[in-house]
Amino acid sequence: MKVVIVGNGPGGVELAKQLSEEHEVTIVERETVPYYTKPMLSHYVAGLAEEKSLFPYPIDWYEKKGIKLLLGTTAKRIDAEKKVLETDRGNFEYDVLVLATGAKPRALKIPGWERMYTLRTIEDAKRLKEAVEREKDLLIIGGGFIGLEIAGNLSKRGIKLRVVEKMTRLMGLDEELTERIKGELEKHGVEFYLGRDVERIENDVLVTDKEEIPARVILCSIGIVPEVSLAKESGLDVNKGILVDKTFRTSKPDIYAIGDCAEHEGIICGTAKAAMAHAKVLANTLKGIPDEYDFHFRSSYFKFGDFPIAIVGELTDKGEWIDSETKSFYRDEKIVGAVVLSDVKKAREWEERLRSTR
Ligand code: FAD
Repeated sequence: MKVVIVGNGPGGVELAKQLSEEHEVTIVERETVPYYTKPMLSHYVAGLAEEKSLFPYPIDWYEKKGIKLLLGTTAKRIDAEKKVLETDRGNFEYDVLVLATGAKPRALKIPGWERMYTLRTIEDAKRLKEAVEREKDLLIIGGGFIGLEIAGNLSKRGIKLRVVEKMTRLMGLDEELTERIKGELEKHGVEFYLGRDVERIENDVLVTDKEEIPARVILCSIGIVPEVSLAKESGLDVNKGILVDKTFRTSKPDIYAIGDCAEHEGIICGTAKAAMAHAKVLANTLKGIPDEYDFHFRSSYFKFGDFPIAIVGELTDKGEWIDSETKSFYRDEKIVGAVVLSDVKKAREWEERLRSTR
């Protein structure tokens, strides 16, 4: 079977790995470098990881696995009738086409927005690293996991760090968890400005509805927009992401979507861990092994500097601390989710337990 995958991120690469022994696998990727680990980008920006350590698979790894990797190649349109993917470097026939096109950073178009940096690719990381090393100062707009990872890692490096967030809570968590995360990062000198509306950037200042904050380097990290242009152009059903069922089928036959570009019942997973899990489920389906992905069960592990946090299962508005590091969440008297701080091993045990009782 000819499997063509668009996108060489964790979703695309994991799927290629799973299928390459039995099928002819081609990856089409517009970037010009092999796969790199995006969760390590903030370590690289902070000078805590060397560039080469971000690249786990050199070009010859793909060759050894029998995966054809077409770098510097942009997919333009799908002819779903003829089962052909059109790219700027020629057309490719497929039996199965998988869109693993990821996402791009959400933009914040306030006056002065051109001054802002974003962080998604290795090129973004190089630009940001250079600016932060020069100015020793970073203001992060957005208190999501990417902003907090960067704050955590850079705080180890004597960089002046400020985090500005529209909501009064971090990562959509409750007040108590927000206070714990904030407290951990404040210990390392990170300043927080929560509940602020960002208005404009003027010279070296970010103006909010409450104050003017000094800001020589500004990173905009307010979430992602799924990369759906190829799917839209080709007539697939799209909302914010490409609409898929629990087995990642799109609205067109033999075309699937996984990772950050896929949406199911309004859920876009948005993590590398999920993208890889999507790939495993899809690989099973394509091998004829019945499988489906549980979009409503979260499983996210992050590290903000030296502070790990895991979110597993469903978070409801009924939470209770079980011990100083674990807050569990209830639905109809049953524990359906947990946030585990500091202890990743314990988080994995919670994940197993919650999955087994679903
Ligand atoms: P992507 O990794 O975005 O890959 C998609 C690829 O498709 C891209 O390389 C793109 O160039 C290519 N592409 C798109 N359109 C086309 C086209 N038309 N033609 C050819 N190629 C195309 N996740 C975690 O689980 N834990 C973390 O701690 C974590 N930290 C993160 C830190 C940072 C700084 C960032 C940026 C992300 C982090 N993430 C983390 C999120 C994680 O990296 C993403 O969720 C993951 O990369 C999504 O994988 P993907 O395969 O869906 O898409």
